[in-house]
Amino acid sequence: MSLRALGHLVALMLAGELARLVAIRRYFVENASPSEIAYEVRRGKLTVRGWIQRLCEAGGGYHVARYVVRRCVDRVYDLEPVLVVASVGSRVEYRCLLCGGVATRPVHHILTYHRDYVARCVQRVADCLLNGRGA
Ligand SMILES: [Zn+2]
Repeated sequence: MSLRALGHLVALMLAGELARLVAIRRYFVENASPSEIAYEVRRGKLTVRGWIQRLCEAGGGYHVARYVVRRCVDRVYDLEPVLVVASVGSRVEYRCLLCGGVATRPVHHILTYHRDYVARCVQRVADCLLNGRGA
């Protein structure tokens, strides 16, 4: 189990990056192609490829990423985002439920200010998987 790959998934969920998680799940679990996914989530194909690549880099390679996504992504879906959209102007802003701060880059905010919380969530997902094989 790569906790770094899992940490990446958890940070995406906490940041409310749902399109990105859906894309990652479609790619690694359902073998959808980046162009199919791009169409579904209404982003560019290069953006989708970038998301997948960043997870692979964070997690220690394609095979590790694939393994972790397949085992963990549905557990990660059980977590609640802590960043909510606060205003949609020329620039989307997010309000953080953990610290009350305003963020413009949700994943960056989570990884910068809430590493401990990410670590606790990673532990919770990992415990879930170890105890009773995800039951
Ligand atoms: Zn915060």
